[in-house]
Amino acid sequence: MEQATERGRGLSLPTKILLGLVIGAAVGITLNLLYAPDFGAAKSATFQSVEYAADHYVKPIGNLFLNLLFMVVVPIVFSSLFLGVAGLGSVQKLGSLGSRTLLWFLGTTTCAVLLGLTLVRVIAPGKQVSPEVAAQVQQQYMGDAQEKIALSGKAKGTIEMLVDIVPTNVVGAASDNKQVLGLIFFALILGAAATRLTPDKSRILRELLETIYELCVKVLGWAMQLAPLGVACLIFHATVKLGLPVMKLVGWYFLTAMGGLILFQTIFITGLAYFFAGMRPGRFYRGCRTLLITAFSTSSSNATMPTTIRTAVDEFGAPREIAGFVMPLGATMNMNGTALFEGVSVLFLAQVANKGLDIGQQLLVLGMAVLTAIGAAGVPGGSLPLLAVVLTQVNVPPELLALILGVDRLVDMTRTVPNVTSDLVCSLWLSRREGHVLKT
Ligand code: ASP
Repeated sequence: MEQATERGRGLSLPTKILLGLVIGAAVGITLNLLYAPDFGAAKSATFQSVEYAADHYVKPIGNLFLNLLFMVVVPIVFSSLFLGVAGLGSVQKLGSLGSRTLLWFLGTTTCAVLLGLTLVRVIAPGKQVSPEVAAQVQQQYMGDAQEKIALSGKAKGTIEMLVDIVPTNVVGAASDNKQVLGLIFFALILGAAATRLTPDKSRILRELLETIYELCVKVLGWAMQLAPLGVACLIFHATVKLGLPVMKLVGWYFLTAMGGLILFQTIFITGLAYFFAGMRPGRFYRGCRTLLITAFSTSSSNATMPTTIRTAVDEFGAPREIAGFVMPLGATMNMNGTALFEGVSVLFLAQVANKGLDIGQQLLVLGMAVLTAIGAAGVPGGSLPLLAVVLTQVNVPPELLALILGVDRLVDMTRTVPNVTSDLVCSLWLSRREGHVLKT
């Protein structure tokens, strides 16, 4: 659609966004290498100025882009889910689509945790960290860890989480981008109710929501014009504070988590795209370029969700009802990368604490990782408080979370990519099952 004009102006938008990513990362890493202090050492005046500029001048520009994406999340979730469900035409159809979607979410999330657990058992990264290094790193990031642990106290139990899916006040549920499940439920139930009315009764609401949806897509298109700059700023901010020295100290953990995520994306998700959606890897990744960079640079499934819908519909030809049904649910409930990361982190920290987890406890980690990945908010670092909950369940001191916080930014960016591509492939699979011809 807008691609013709994008090309007309020279570089295409995905290429400009990629350039933004590369330039932002190159400048950030260079400044980090030049001025960041060694682990535990005091920051030089130059590095303090660089950090100040990154926090106060560059990050706000990145946040502006991020906020623009978040701004359209609530209207897009509501309109696309309502129209999606109402468009399915019957509650039975919703049931069969819904159950397949949930099956996909549970199946892929479980595979992700299993891969993570296997990698930690084979590589044993926790055995590579000496007690002195562990104590040093823990001390440095203790403040941050305490914050997450405090938040984990507010995390809800499974029953409470299920009850809270039904909001008492839908406006309240829509007011927080971290709690979209209530809004999702409301849109689903209202869409289901619409299938019980005669079409002319719900026509006006449908047309209104169609218009709202189209308007949001337009606004998203404008927001994405800012993406090259926004992405450059977000990446610059993340890389300037990369914490390379701490990365070396917990290097085996970092490599295991990143290796697992990259393996999962390149082998597992690519395989699913091929076998379930008939997408060859080259075609799949060409269509996903903007999506991958948006997920990576924003670290947020929720902020990326409108782009995920747009990718499924515009790039791959999925029908809007199916993409609009799967993505809002997936952005909140289907987090493959997060689950893999949780499995790796819990087992790694158990190894550091010298706590061998028996098979029963590992199964508990598996179950908890799947559940907490469903409950985690699709925002940067959304899973960390829940990770503290899992650690407590298997008697690993949650304070050890401090060990991984220094490198979490990059891991968070990376885990958000499979979080969203799994939703995309699920919607393509369902579209194909429903007999739609995709743009392969
Ligand atoms: N940043 C992740 C997402 O939005 C959530 C997390 O793992 O912290 O998908």
